[in-house]
Amino acid sequence: MKPAPFAYVRAESFEHALDVLAEHGDDALVLAGGQSLVPMLNLRLVQPAVVLDINALHALSTIDTHAEGGLRLGALVRHREIAIHPVIATRAPLLRAAAPWIAHPAVRHRGTLGGSLALGDPAAEWPACAVALDATIRLASRARGERCVAASAFFQGLYQSDRRADELLVGCEFPRASDDSVFFFRELARRHGDYASVGLAVSARGRPGAWQDLRLVFFGVGDTPVSATACSAALIAGDAFADAQTRLEAELEPRADLWFSAPAKRHLAVQLLRDAWRDLGNPIGGT
Ligand SMILES: Cc1cc2nc3c(=O)[nH]c(=O)nc-3n(C[C@H](O)[C@H](O)[C@H](O)COP(=O)(O)OP(=O)(O)OC[C@H]3O[C@@H](n4cnc5c(N)ncnc54)[C@H](O)[C@@H]3O)c2cc1C
Repeated sequence: MKPAPFAYVRAESFEHALDVLAEHGDDALVLAGGQSLVPMLNLRLVQPAVVLDINALHALSTIDTHAEGGLRLGALVRHREIAIHPVIATRAPLLRAAAPWIAHPAVRHRGTLGGSLALGDPAAEWPACAVALDATIRLASRARGERCVAASAFFQGLYQSDRRADELLVGCEFPRASDDSVFFFRELARRHGDYASVGLAVSARGRPGAWQDLRLVFFGVGDTPVSATACSAALIAGDAFADAQTRLEAELEPRADLWFSAPAKRHLAVQLLRDAWRDLGNPIGGT
């Protein structure tokens, strides 16, 4: 299929982009890497009056490793750049671990961090990592200037986020990993490169028996990334793994997809939890 007709506008400056979004609101869609937008246009799942291409806004492609508190990545940073950047690998190892799971090399070369966060696919890697790392998403509009939203509050429903129609997603800030930070990332998919059927991004500080800030964020099991807070509280408290597992099973409400029933997804999530807990050096059978 071919897209419905639309006007193509190439943003000449940041201000120009905000002006176009202010003028057209819901009738304009931003074009970043195009890896999701172009298929959606071709299938006529979206029919915007205006497609606003932001690829000439080079300021949105920056990777600032000296930002106060951590890493500041522009919306146009490509998945591939995150995968290979040496400083990202040390400051935010979870991002480095997650990047190779996204699609295939061709998609990773074009697809952007901002596009993935703005789209908010419930099975995507970056939204889950952003929540697990307690990241902050930056948005800008002509009417309200710039504002920041915690990733945990940004994703609000299936492909629904806190971004308003006149806002450009400008970038994302990730806190710097501390010396005692640990991470785990894994997903289960039918084929490598597919969106995850079930995935888990974990961030924590401490060591076995003394965990803090344990964030267990599952994806592919709900309309948004799902923080398993009850399960995490049980593990921090030193409860038996079986008790934490019971809590996880109670707090996940996965929906069946084409391949997996809801109980199968719940089962896979428990297996990922088990893998993560073991990888972080914890006994599975003990307290
Ligand atoms: C074969 C295939 C496999 C894939 N597999 C995976 C996968 O396993 N995991 C995964 O996470 N993704 C996967 N993707 C999607 C890919 O990661 C996309 O790159 C990503 O979802 C969107 O990024 P984009 O830069 O391409 O955004 P675009 O496609 O350009 O835009 C996506 C949406 O976000 C909006 N948008 C984009 N940038 C902004 C911005 N700065 N401000 C406001 N709105 C914006 C657009 O208007 C559009 O609605 C796959 C894609 C393909 C084609």
